[in-house]
Amino acid sequence: MTCIFCDILSGDREGHFLYEDENHVAFLDKYPIDHGHSLVIPRNHHERITEMTSENVGKLFSIVPKIAKAILEATGADAFSLAQNNGREAKQIIPHVHIHIIPRYKNKGTIWTKREISKSEELEELSKKIKNFI
Ligand SMILES: [Zn+2]
Repeated sequence: MTCIFCDILSGDREGHFLYEDENHVAFLDKYPIDHGHSLVIPRNHHERITEMTSENVGKLFSIVPKIAKAILEATGADAFSLAQNNGREAKQIIPHVHIHIIPRYKNKGTIWTKREISKSEELEELSKKIKNFI
């Protein structure tokens, strides 16, 4: 079975990267709940965090604050939510571990389920902007 996130990692599918290190990457969600919605993922394919070692789960979460901070600075968001779903019944759509960073804005509602479809150029511009703050 192919995995959309593994395809993004291998370059077979377009991704707008914010951050990369040896074991992790962060990129913009193509279907953002709010402007700047990003995903942090391990390079290794695991469906759930319970399939990873505790140490690797810790490392994955440890890079979230600096990415969230950069997103807030670049977007001017007021707050952010984190989400990490494990399993289809938990609304995990892509079966590759990922942490959602969802910026929140004072002047907008916070509807969890409403998603937009972004244009590739918009995502490219935004990812460059956020990268400058990391
Ligand atoms: Zn994968």
